Amino acid sequence: MTHKNTLEHARLLDSQDKLHQFRSEFHLPVIDGKEVVYFTGNSLGLQPKKAKEALDTELEDWAKWGVEGHFHARNPWYSYHELFAEDAASLVGANPNEVVLMNGLTVNLHLMMVSFFQPNKASGRTKILCEAKAFPSDQYAIESQLRLHGLDPKENLIEIAPREGEHLIHHDDILSAIATHGEHIALIMIGGVNYYSGQVFDMKTITEAGHKAGAMVGFDLAHAAGNIELNLHDWGVDFACWCTYKYLNSGPGSVSGVFVHDRHANSDMLRLAGWWGHDKSTRFQMEPGFNPISGAEGWQLSNAPVFNMAIHRASLDLFKAAGFENLRHKSRDLTNYLEFIIDGISSQSDKVNFEIITPRDEKDRGCQLSILAHGQGKSLFDHLMKEGVIVDWREPNVIRMAPVPLYNSFEDIYRFGEVLKAGIE
Ligand SMILES: *Cc1c(COP(=O)(O)O)cnc(C)c1O
Repeated sequence: MTHKNTLEHARLLDSQDKLHQFRSEFHLPVIDGKEVVYFTGNSLGLQPKKAKEALDTELEDWAKWGVEGHFHARNPWYSYHELFAEDAASLVGANPNEVVLMNGLTVNLHLMMVSFFQPNKASGRTKILCEAKAFPSDQYAIESQLRLHGLDPKENLIEIAPREGEHLIHHDDILSAIATHGEHIALIMIGGVNYYSGQVFDMKTITEAGHKAGAMVGFDLAHAAGNIELNLHDWGVDFACWCTYKYLNSGPGSVSGVFVHDRHANSDMLRLAGWWGHDKSTRFQMEPGFNPISGAEGWQLSNAPVFNMAIHRASLDLFKAAGFENLRHKSRDLTNYLEFIIDGISSQSDKVNFEIITPRDEKDRGCQLSILAHGQGKSLFDHLMKEGVIVDWREPNVIRMAPVPLYNSFEDIYRFGEVLKAGIE
């Protein structure tokens, strides 16, 4: 279909959208009496209306049962994390025993690296390969893991950067770095979708290349889970972690997800252990000697943060009801329309050049677009916010936005375009 930058066209697209009714399942923030255009689902997803009911259920059961709620609550807390096995696994392309919900994202990255980053100084396999300008928390986690092993990050961190003057990383550069440094790489850990550029990495190919070189391969899926198709099991990825408060709409700081491939299910690799990872049948004998549960559950430390998880369940129900393929289909359409609107405004104005740094090819991106607003400054962002368009701004002039298929509409994109046009200096 040829697109048009008109309200009528946007409304036509909305009327043809099979998922349009899911918007009413969410609370959209209202500023000055007007619903905002919310394009920051990549940072904090909106609240599902059913979140409150899900939380109330657990509050009521806590009030009613006290400690007995571990067994008598409607969703017994003792085994609460098990309620996710199917739905969380299907979202990342895993088997149920390969996924567990626990802790926060950075905590889980550390826990996974304790197991999967086993440098060997004798053989010289001591390095970690990651993307340059990874999300700061990932950089800090990687550097401190190197230090934990007495390794200098300057010598043991291989960072793959975009080429001079470019914004995206060439896949060939990742693969050739793996080939060049192969025997020295102990771990490859990359963001599945780069948080800044929105670039999707070819996780399957990177995993194969990493394994061929003898390295472990893990991914941070903070910007991938709930955004793009994932097939972690089939791709052979060793481990992955993600947060649930971005595309997965489970509330600020909500619980993180972890994937550990089946081939490691019964591994005796080093891990930081806790009682919730211990064999369930003997957990309450409270005896010494850690005996891990088979699969991802064996990496749990603590009993489940049920209030967080209750909301995550409510959110996963929506993903299931909508169907991920349908969501991905709409996501592509929304982002293509946003791209069309931005390119149109850019080409009609001599005061601005919006350079889209996110890949143009839809197979290399999820729903996020990042643009460099050449010729514009912070006042453009201030204007957008004042007019009720919520996007993310990075100095000096990068705007990141993510129209998400569960609650954004084509009309949102049209409205965004009108506000953007009016704000150009
Ligand atoms: C959002 C994000 C984080 C945040 O980490 P928390 O531990 O959840 O605060 C980490 N890494 C990446 C790549 C992210 O996008």
